Formats: sequence, structure tokens, C-alpha cells
Amino acid sequence: MSLRNAMTVDVEDWFQVQAFAGVIPPQAWEGKERRVVASTGHVLDLFAEAGVRATFFTLGWVAERHPALIRRILAEGHELASHGYGHAPVFRLGPEGFRQDIRRAKQVLEDAGGVAVLGYRAPTFSISPQATPWAHRILAEEGHRYSSSVFPGRHAARGDGAAALLPWQADGVLEVPMTVLRSPLRDLPVSGGGWFRMTPYGAFRAGLRRVNAMGRRGVFYFHPWEVDPDQPRVAEAPALARLRHYTGLRRMAPRLRALLRDFAWGRMDEVFAPELGATAPRRMAA
Ligand SMILES: [Zn+2]
Repeated sequence: MSLRNAMTVDVEDWFQVQAFAGVIPPQAWEGKERRVVASTGHVLDLFAEAGVRATFFTLGWVAERHPALIRRILAEGHELASHGYGHAPVFRLGPEGFRQDIRRAKQVLEDAGGVAVLGYRAPTFSISPQATPWAHRILAEEGHRYSSSVFPGRHAARGDGAAALLPWQADGVLEVPMTVLRSPLRDLPVSGGGWFRMTPYGAFRAGLRRVNAMGRRGVFYFHPWEVDPDQPRVAEAPALARLRHYTGLRRMAPRLRALLRDFAWGRMDEVFAPELGATAPRRMAA
């Protein structure tokens, strides 16, 4: 149990999730009630209470509007990383649109934080070696050192059954895939998201312990809106999207407290420092 896992947060507001994109398009974002500063503040308080430092993959759109939040994340010892600018899936952006999106996000984040941004996570883990074979090369060319954007395994529609489970060097960046436990029937995601809220905590903990017992470091992720049970309800969203988004929000904070206590955690750039050392920087950030 002494292995350290990476704790990560995808910083976006409640109305920016892909599941609601059909009913709340990006043009409508500006008019929505902004809750990301308060909910991310709650996350920061939980980490401070547990003495945990994490990586915050933050949307450029959020950083542009809330630079004080970026400064608080950094002041409390966390790593600032990129979640892209506009939260569009990578396969939909195409190579040139992807380049523009990650360049803009990195610039906004570095301007707000005054630090180099090395890491990137694709919206809804929309990078796969099959669908977006150009993505890692473009990330490297735009000055990123690592990505945590691939969901391997046969567990969901977006799972990439062919992707590796362990970090690999991918066209100039280190790809650290989300944590999946392989089993003969199906692969078990033990990396957070809706799965963490819907699975009994003990079962989730057992899964992550098995990962660590095999000598593998896990990557856990969640969103600030998951600790905000009072967020507005999007009644027009599809039923399945609403089920995934709203189930278990009230038990999220106590579960996170337990998870932070039951495992050792760190930032992506610390936990994967050995592999990152082998990745040469393509271009130094300004
Ligand atoms: Zn996201």
C-alpha cells in the first residue's frame, strides 16, 4: 500500500460536460450560473484537510474567467495542467482544430498561473491510438510533456480495447492511461468518474488495492461539480446522462475523504517522474 497513486481533477463547470452538450452548447455557457470557483474551492479544502497534492487539468475557458482560482490552486502546492480550451472531443476537432484548442488553453493557463503547463487531459478521454493517431505528436509539438487522455479496456462505449494499461512513450509525450483492472469477462475501471459514485466504496477500494499490489500506480479523476449536490438540474438532458451525472453526488465528498485517507496520493508530475524524466522536452514554455 506504500505505492503512490496520482490524484487528478478535471476542472470544468456543471454545464460544460459532454453529456449535456446537446442541450447546452458552448454558445450558451456564458449565460449559465457559474459554480466552478465554489466547487473547486470545496475540492481544495478536502485536499488541504487530507494533506494531499493533486493535478488540476483545467479548462482554458475557466482559467480565462477565473485567474484567481488558478493562483489558489498553485499557491496550495498543486500542479496546473490543461484540459484544453473548449471541451470538444479531440476526434471531432481534427488535427488543426486540436492544435488551436490546446495552444490557446496552454497560453491562457500559463498567463494566469505564471508556470509552465506540462500535462494535458482530453475531454471525455477522446484520444485513442486508433481514432486520433496524430494527437500525441501535436501535443509534443505544442510543448506538452505528458498526456492522461486514453481510457483502455472493454468496459464502456468509449473504452479502447487495444490500448496498453501501463504508461508509454507516444510520439514525444508520455501517455499515462486511466487505470483499468483486466479480467477475463470485462475490464474494470478503477479510476473514478461516475463509476466511483455508483460502485460500493469497498469494492472500488479493493480494485485499486489490487492494482497497487501488482506494482502499478493508479490514476484517479473526478470533477468539481461532483461535490456540488445543489447544482441546477438539466431536465432536458437524456435520461442516461442525467443518471450518470446526478447519482451519488451527496455521498461524493465523504467517499473522497475515505479514498484520500485509504491510499497514498500525489501529483501526476511527481508520481510519474521516473517516466517523465525519459521524455525530452520539445520546446520550453515561455
Ligand atoms: Zn472534462
